[in-house]
Amino acid sequence: MDIRYIDEMDIKGKRVLIRVDFNVPLDPDGNITDDTRIRAVLPTINYALDEGAKVILASHLGRPKGKKVPQLSMAPVAKRLSRLLGKEVVLAPDVIGEEVKRIVDSMKPGDVVLLENLRFYPGEESNDEDFARELASLADVYINDAFATAHRSHASNVAITRFVKECGAGLLMRKEITYFEKAIEEPMRPLVAIVGGAKISDKIGVLGSLSQKVDKLIVGGGLVFTFLKALGYEIGKSIVEDSMLEKALEVLDRIKERKIKFYLPVDFVVADRFDPAAETKVVTYQEIPKDWMALDIGPATTTLFGEAIQNAKTIIWNGPMGVFEMDAFSRGTYAMLSHVANAYALTIVGGGDTDVAVHRAGELAKMSYVSTGGGAFLSLLEGKELPAITALKSCSKSKEEVSSL
Ligand code: AMP
Repeated sequence: MDIRYIDEMDIKGKRVLIRVDFNVPLDPDGNITDDTRIRAVLPTINYALDEGAKVILASHLGRPKGKKVPQLSMAPVAKRLSRLLGKEVVLAPDVIGEEVKRIVDSMKPGDVVLLENLRFYPGEESNDEDFARELASLADVYINDAFATAHRSHASNVAITRFVKECGAGLLMRKEITYFEKAIEEPMRPLVAIVGGAKISDKIGVLGSLSQKVDKLIVGGGLVFTFLKALGYEIGKSIVEDSMLEKALEVLDRIKERKIKFYLPVDFVVADRFDPAAETKVVTYQEIPKDWMALDIGPATTTLFGEAIQNAKTIIWNGPMGVFEMDAFSRGTYAMLSHVANAYALTIVGGGDTDVAVHRAGELAKMSYVSTGGGAFLSLLEGKELPAITALKSCSKSKEEVSSL
């Protein structure tokens, strides 16, 4: 059963509850430092408003752990959203309850209400049915447009679909799913994946799954050193996960079996300590000094990786090539970004930190698609089905079965 999307549904005059991901970064004074996630769902909100729906928005923000934490109120989001939409956004004083019901009952078509932080209630993260039923009672139609939380089984993603009359997905969800399918399920080949980041334990499933699908696999970042150690190289004080050595060798075996092209860095920027002002030098992968740590890929690797993606028709990238947060170790990540941005390929970038690097480098416009999901994007890459998407599918199905009875 396929998912239904908001533009295939009749929402005119109805109360439409849209689960969005407004989990934006805040500075210590509570100001929003990046509103990308709010902007990403504007098409869905505007569509619903244009259709004359009553729009009720629900999101989590930070980790209030089931308690009402005033610093994690949705108030700054309501203010920013109001500015972006150019219309009033009413912030409900709570998520559920009599007062919220009264506010929703008095809504007119074209009104927007933002509920308070879903995670003020423990029932959100425990996927609680009673909490989900209360939320569902606010709406005639439920729409999920929160791709970045779709890998979680929470009440507003999963349980709610059992209690609403109709449900579907939003336009951002469609964009994320469509690009992902283009990249992985029916890719133009050669398909190249670039995987970086800190911990191999977070990425081993992704590497295993990608090794079965891609034509070339390029690995950079901190994960590399578990591979190099497993292969018997000296890695000095570079980041490593000893518990993953065997798994790393298993992935190498799978890569060999499929005979795909596999690239590891051939040189590194090493530092005498983990510090932006550390002493640094460039060494080959065979020459990492015992007391030093490798914190970025080196110039020869940047050239090698750049050439390896030259003929790619599809490129998927997750995870930085080095400790890009420190200038001294950011060059590899930014050079790769520029290679990817200038490639004649469908380029899809996903995962929290990669997304940050793309924004900082100002290369956003040159990428075909930058996913709004970190964990959700990784889960898809691992070949997993996302619980929120499964819930939407079975929701549409059960409603269809009911109507055909
Ligand atoms: P992830 O969230 O797994 O994508 O990892 C991103 C983090 O990996 C960033 O904070 C980088 O600083 C870190 N990282 C990348 N390369 C290295 C490295 N060689 N050593 C230590 N950390 C690294």
